[in-house]
Amino acid sequence: MKNVIFLAPPAAGKGTFSDYLVEKFNYKHFSTGSILRENAQKNEKLKQILESGELVEDEVIIPLIENVLKSLSKEDKFILDGFPRTLQQAKKLDIILSGLGVLDVVVVSIDVEKETLIDRVIGRKVCSKCYKSYNTNILEFKPKVMDRCDDCQSVLIKREDDNQKSFLVRYNTYLESTLPIIAYYKEKGCLQVIQNTELEQTKALEQLRSVIK
Ligand code: AMP
Repeated sequence: MKNVIFLAPPAAGKGTFSDYLVEKFNYKHFSTGSILRENAQKNEKLKQILESGELVEDEVIIPLIENVLKSLSKEDKFILDGFPRTLQQAKKLDIILSGLGVLDVVVVSIDVEKETLIDRVIGRKVCSKCYKSYNTNILEFKPKVMDRCDDCQSVLIKREDDNQKSFLVRYNTYLESTLPIIAYYKEKGCLQVIQNTELEQTKALEQLRSVIK
């Protein structure tokens, strides 16, 4: 199995795909958004940046990702969910990974239409403890018990940045800063693109299984 980097607009399914890989193949999953949201509970400035939908500075995010990657053992396979988000971060990541001797990486770009993303953002809820993602607007992603996590039974909460205003900031940031990385990885020959619509969910997971081999 290869290490996986997900590139995707907000609510495209990075979290759901990651949960799937963790469950099936025991990947170590690092969601920079989840780590930052946890840190923001004790940091008002960070909380405000996250609520606005703007990107956090590289001085914060790069040491964070460097530390998590260094904490892994050679046998571990990782998922980066939310990093890199800019070309500068992608180039920095290349340096970190080559320093650690990590070569087998696939970059998976998840493609979803903007209108679908807005619907998903409005219905999304996450577990306050384990951060598993649910969607009250999509039958397949509803929790078994209302507002409770299926896995750890903790209460589900709405993310502060899951509203239309913040979504648009995050989506535009994705177009401006993250899309150029797709071309960068395509050039390097490690990019795979997966379409992720509700109707094609099973097909998307099948495709995901084949690209990580
Ligand atoms: P996510 O959970 O991936 O949607 O990320 C939520 C928020 O965390 C983003 O809107 C950014 O404010 C911040 N964030 C996550 N990853 C990064 C990153 N690689 N660089 C800068 N900010 C990030």
